[in-house]
Amino acid sequence: MKIICVGRNYAAHAKELNNAVEEEPVIFLKPDSALLINNKDFYLPDFSNDIHYETEIVVRINKAVKHIEEKFAHRYYDSVTVGVDFTARDLQSMLKAKGLPWERAKAFDGSAVIGSFVPLADVGIISDLNFSMKLNGQTVQSVNSSEMVFSVDKVISFVSRFITLKTGDLIFTGTPQGVGPVKAGDQLIGFIGDRELFNFHVK
Ligand code: MG
Repeated sequence: MKIICVGRNYAAHAKELNNAVEEEPVIFLKPDSALLINNKDFYLPDFSNDIHYETEIVVRINKAVKHIEEKFAHRYYDSVTVGVDFTARDLQSMLKAKGLPWERAKAFDGSAVIGSFVPLADVGIISDLNFSMKLNGQTVQSVNSSEMVFSVDKVISFVSRFITLKTGDLIFTGTPQGVGPVKAGDQLIGFIGDRELFNFHVK
């Protein structure tokens, strides 16, 4: 499986990092070795002093597809969770300044946290999901998925023009405003609505 991520998909987040909102989705990938599941501890890597959380809606592809039109994309996922796209912001800033790819800052081990998947039908519709993350008990990110610049269906359609999506692939759909650093001892709890879907610690 592969992990496909969208960058700059909420206007207020793009602004907080001084990025433009793009005309087309910004796409990058993480390898399967980046996955962190079952509320396992996240270990701070030694190559960064500024690891940021980015809380995101994550959907799982349920059958292979390529070149799918946006209006049919909803047929290719039916479960959803929240995840964290951990980012080495210091490394990312250095790579961006040099015009280099982001992978070292985005694709490292443990950088793709996912919560428990729930059937989309149980939590609502993809374009109207409230999701949030509590850092040490304080809500630091909270938004409705309707604020995405590019909808999940548009992202799937767009990506499928370039990359065949396969069963089990994950799409991280971008983070809203409120990103920030983590430190050892922090606890992160992610929600869709009132449902707690991940709860893990930073070591
Ligand atoms: Mg992200």
